Amino acid sequence: MLDIEKIRTDFPILSTEVYGFPLVYLDNGATTQKPRCVLDRIIHAYENENGNIHRGVHYLSEIATDHHEKARSRVARFIGAEDSAEIVFTRGTTESVNLVARTLPDVICKPGDEILVTGMEHHSNTVPWQIACERLGLKLRVIPVLDNGELDYSSLNNLLSAKTKIVACTAISNVLGTINNLEPIVAGAHAVGAYVLVDCAQAIAHTHIDVKALNADFIAFSGHKVYAPNGIGVLWGRRALLEMMPPFMGGGEMIDHVTFDKTTYNKLPYKFEAGTPDYIGSRALAEAFDYIERVGFDDIIEHEHNLLDYAIHQIASVNGVRQIGTAAHRSGILSFVVDGIHPYDIGTMLDKLGIAVRTGHHCAEPLIDRFSVPGTVRVSFAMYNTMSEIDTFIKGLDRVLTILR
Ligand code: PLP
Repeated sequence: MLDIEKIRTDFPILSTEVYGFPLVYLDNGATTQKPRCVLDRIIHAYENENGNIHRGVHYLSEIATDHHEKARSRVARFIGAEDSAEIVFTRGTTESVNLVARTLPDVICKPGDEILVTGMEHHSNTVPWQIACERLGLKLRVIPVLDNGELDYSSLNNLLSAKTKIVACTAISNVLGTINNLEPIVAGAHAVGAYVLVDCAQAIAHTHIDVKALNADFIAFSGHKVYAPNGIGVLWGRRALLEMMPPFMGGGEMIDHVTFDKTTYNKLPYKFEAGTPDYIGSRALAEAFDYIERVGFDDIIEHEHNLLDYAIHQIASVNGVRQIGTAAHRSGILSFVVDGIHPYDIGTMLDKLGIAVRTGHHCAEPLIDRFSVPGTVRVSFAMYNTMSEIDTFIKGLDRVLTILR
């Protein structure tokens, strides 16, 4: 069992008041709050250990380099990767996906080949592939979403073929909370010779990700969704593929030798880390993973599961609420609409009661269109949320709906 009251004291922002009400932060799918230890790690680094990495011979540069590389190994351990050279630090999920979409298709695709995504992807796992399709004459195909918010796995047989070169799929939907069954997707893709990228932006904080068990070829995630700061993210990729892919960006650190006639590139992972990386963010990410494991990841997962079950149960009694997404396996996210009332109005009025939720298309417009709604109200949980916050939210929602009606 988690000691939630103790955990809450680790997150300074949770004692904030909003318009005179205690903050109820239910927008964790957008970004998580940061524990004191992560904030302290950043301050400590800037106060004591700040020097640009990899290129200095001086003490501060060496110590900063050491922390950055230790953070890489820490990240590798958190996701079960054996080779820390397969961990590329990026700015976040979006950059990680763009890195792959801008480089891999160029070496494995020919015009007419296909890239398969799902109907529930965040724009950052759709648009980079659309751009690749336009650039290289490829076709984008889509795994449909069923009414309950699960993927239509029965479509895989028709969609996967020798033309399929890359499959890009989210592990957990940021709108519906659906936990996808990645096994048939990865196995099906590999059976036709395609590579798989899994968007773990939501999953990284709510499920164990083990790249060996997952057996995908790339995973992408952002630090800020897992209690770490903004601006640091990760791409994990299989070494052989990362070796084969050309650089994404040019600049310092990614080179081996530069002449005006020819430039040769650095080894992995530096080939993909042009410019000064966020070497403070990387150690803060490592600290966030340490924190999660100190608290107990299994207990966090169970607690978030209980929160979701409770919220699903409680919201069912609120008149007029229609949940969007009722998949059998869900994690930490509840989306709903109230017919006749715009989600934006609900979100804005909840905010006036100190309750932070997200409204709109959640950067997944095709999915929102699929459900023929103007957007949803999304409530999303983290380890520090409580049942009593859900009660406050439900009471607030009741009040807001009464006023709006
Ligand atoms: N993928 C999913 C499933 C997400 O939920 C998000 C952010 O909400 C992203 C990708 C993009 O993450 P970022 O903006 O941190 O790059």
